[in-house]
Amino acid sequence: MASITLNHLVKQYGDGFPAVNDVSIDIADGEFLILVGPSGCGKSTLLRMIVGLEDITSGDLLINGQRVNDKEPRERNLSMVFQNYALYPHLTVYENIAFPLRLSKGKFSEEEIDRKVRTASATLDLDDHLQRKPANLSGGQRQRVAMGRAIVREADAFLFDEPLSNLDAKLRGQMRAEIAQLQRRMGITAVYVTHDQTEAMTLGDRVAVLKKGILQQIASPRELYEQP
Ligand code: ADP
Ligand code: ADP
Repeated sequence: MASITLNHLVKQYGDGFPAVNDVSIDIADGEFLILVGPSGCGKSTLLRMIVGLEDITSGDLLINGQRVNDKEPRERNLSMVFQNYALYPHLTVYENIAFPLRLSKGKFSEEEIDRKVRTASATLDLDDHLQRKPANLSGGQRQRVAMGRAIVREADAFLFDEPLSNLDAKLRGQMRAEIAQLQRRMGITAVYVTHDQTEAMTLGDRVAVLKKGILQQIASPRELYEQP
């Protein structure tokens, strides 16, 4: 895994106030950072800047101490998990999870791919569903396939954009527990956007609060939610 340093990051679209305005956060290797704030405060923009889908207007982004502002998303080796899963409907669970490994052409043998897919699917309890198509899976299972795809890449960190917000309460609880378990097993570095206080309390080492692109506060979930 990796540390991620946001150093005075700014994102300016057009001439309005900046979508992300001078945000500095040191995210330690293995830290699970929760990102909260009202709609439009810059959460998604910040995630996209970190993963490399959005240019940085000013400031520096460091991964393991190395400046990556000008690196392609692929070179940053971070993994983004979205709420809408983004699975390939015509591929099996196995092939969906294997997909990122096949993209890096010739890098992995079939044996390696198979071993990585098996390890991820065991971690996520998907072993019995490898030959199914996404349409035949529950929402929670689909979410796990999306996570499996993130895991096999052995990414340096995970970025989650409200990954559970489309699930019903029961599944959300299950997935929350699974992500917590994943975190305990793998010690992942993560930036996790959510509106759900329970997720923030369960998963977060720290919670960063954004408002109009500005970092308002950064504290442990306890400090933030249990203050008098
Ligand atoms: P959040 O994820 O917290 O809801 P966003 O990061 O999506 O917030 O948006 C932050 C601000 O940037 C908003 O004012 C939004 O309208 C603006 N914004 C987001 N994406 C674009 C874009 N591609 N072009 C122009 N403005 C954008
Ligand atoms: P099922 O999930 O239907 O029980 P398995 O996952 O046991 O099927 O698959 C049987 C064997 O085929 C395994 O050894 C597995 O590695 C391999 N396998 C399964 N799906 C694929 C695939 N899409 N591409 C390559 N090998 C696969």
